[in-house]
Amino acid sequence: MTDDTHDTDETADDTHDTDETTDDFRSRVGTVGQKPETDEDLYGMTWEEAGDALLTADAVVLPTGSVEQHSVHLPLSVDTIRADHLSAELVAAAATADLRLLRLPVFSYGYSEHHLQFPGTVTLSQDTYRDAVVDIGASLAEHGVDRLILLNCHGGNREPLSLAVDRLGRDYDVTTHLIHWTDFACDRLEEAFGDDWGHAGDHETSVIELFRPALVRDEKAEPQDTRPFPQTTTYRYFDDLTEQGGLGDPTNADPELLAEIVEATTESILEQLRADIENGW
Ligand SMILES: [Zn+2]
Repeated sequence: MTDDTHDTDETADDTHDTDETTDDFRSRVGTVGQKPETDEDLYGMTWEEAGDALLTADAVVLPTGSVEQHSVHLPLSVDTIRADHLSAELVAAAATADLRLLRLPVFSYGYSEHHLQFPGTVTLSQDTYRDAVVDIGASLAEHGVDRLILLNCHGGNREPLSLAVDRLGRDYDVTTHLIHWTDFACDRLEEAFGDDWGHAGDHETSVIELFRPALVRDEKAEPQDTRPFPQTTTYRYFDDLTEQGGLGDPTNADPELLAEIVEATTESILEQLRADIENGW
């Protein structure tokens, strides 16, 4: 669990963990500065254990992220870190909605063509991305899985994931729930940070300060220089929109508030999943 070179020895002097809510949250989900693990990680099971678990769990969760620039103060792994920690929270809290969820490793590579002008961004083509997600679902179907949850933490993945949901349902009889995490959090994020909580801004900086504080380059965090989104066309590349690569003002980050938003949002997602399943979907 020490494969991250940035946060091996800096967690002890982390200044963000004084709030009681945040401390509680961290002790439940995992240790700050580390990759989270849950008892329901398919990755940690033997094939015998997996065989039983896949047949008895209610659904399998595939967290989806990206390898993509997140301005000059955050690492390329932001969406993947979000997918990892937020899926761990979802799986750990699933029992409150009377669900048992298994968790796959994060699918880190995403569709990020619009960020390619920034070094380090890696993208799959939309077709490759869709096909890879379908292949993952089809593999699970071989083992008797009939319900998959895509917990998505990167906006660029939306369209290819929607197409994958269609194929998994029609071709493999796998009911696939597509959960864009921020869709369930956006009202709370707007209340906390205003309209401008987008890419690498207030919200995502708060998430990384909460889970992996040593990865935030505090001295580089500054209000982002942006121009307004076009209203009648679309931008081609993200450097058309922003100088540094982000939106909003990362200096407004508030990890304690974010911890509360994560707990409430996880509850909302589980409630909706429970309702859809009870309604026969
Ligand atoms: Zn992001």
